Amino acid sequence: MIGGILMGLNRKKVLCLDSISKRMEILIMEQLSKEIDIVFCKDKKDWEKHIRTANVLITFTHGISKEWIEKADDCVFIQKLGAGINNIDLVEASKRKIPVANAPGLNSTAVAEHSVILMLSVFKHLVTAHNYIVHKGEWLKTQLRDHSYQLSYKKVGLIGFGNIGREVCRLLKGFECEISYYDTYRLSNEKEAELGVSYKNLDKLIQESDVVSLHVPLNSGTYHLVNKERLLLMKETAVLINTCRGGVIDEDALYDVLKSGRLTGAGLDVFETEPIEKDNKLASLPNVILTPHIGGGTNEAMEAVIQKACLNINSVLSNGKLPNEKDIVNFNELQSCSI
Ligand code: NAD
Repeated sequence: MIGGILMGLNRKKVLCLDSISKRMEILIMEQLSKEIDIVFCKDKKDWEKHIRTANVLITFTHGISKEWIEKADDCVFIQKLGAGINNIDLVEASKRKIPVANAPGLNSTAVAEHSVILMLSVFKHLVTAHNYIVHKGEWLKTQLRDHSYQLSYKKVGLIGFGNIGREVCRLLKGFECEISYYDTYRLSNEKEAELGVSYKNLDKLIQESDVVSLHVPLNSGTYHLVNKERLLLMKETAVLINTCRGGVIDEDALYDVLKSGRLTGAGLDVFETEPIEKDNKLASLPNVILTPHIGGGTNEAMEAVIQKACLNINSVLSNGKLPNEKDIVNFNELQSCSI
């Protein structure tokens, strides 16, 4: 679908690579400059048709591989609708001197709330209780009690203490949880005291927490960070929550550990392959709650992300600059490049 009426010679073209909701399309069309045409791709045929002439690429969940960046002859800017940039080929974009911007922090509250919902729901077997009533007509009033726990006053370990990790920490204050974190970047003692958190090394945090919640980006340092050895360090009654990226957990190892009866359960919003295959083993386990990567997907978060993205695109296409160059994730790599 083309937002502008006609594509004139001097008009700029933005290509939205992912199939997004009608409401998101409207929000983008309302906020992009009227001098810009927008094409919303429905499939890879649309990519093929438009990628060579697009000036800006918008990516939501699919990301952009080297192969597609190479085809984008006229591209001067790539905007990610969200924070995670693990599936955008930054090396190729930098080689082509294309700045890539993301929109971090704007969906932190949504993702943090989702993490807390999963903690509560796994501890209380909420989805199982619902499914037994609706699908089997069974009332598990007493059966679930022996395996149900409160979140209040528990020890929660946050792996990654950036925007989302800190937002989870803020929300958990109401539950009076004892919060520790592990991050490659350690805060000052004063900041830790102000936030009411303590730093632990990774294995100690995993070993001592009732809830382990993941909030790191997926990169070479975090791939399969939660492996079999670390899963076996967790308390037998602990809960594992992942709303960051699937690749941070070794999913086969998680299946084996859960299947063996260890852990109260896991709450997962993200997976190594998305959408998951129909026969994904994790979906067969009663103590796992799966959601389809909806952590950041609220109206409030999407509006904020789209507003930021459109501001960036309008600015790049009108004066060649971003309002805030700190939004460029490959800034260092581009070095002398001026957009
Ligand atoms: P952020 O950059 O603010 O925080 C990430 C933190 O991880 C930083 O403090 C960083 O120092 C730390 N870190 C990086 N590598 C590490 C390592 N090897 N070991 C320990 N710590 C490490 O990012 P954020 O906004 O908090 O988002 C975190 C991730 O959540 C994103 O990268 C994205 O993949 C994911 N996310 C998911 C959704 C969703 O819908 N489920 C939405 C938004 C973001």
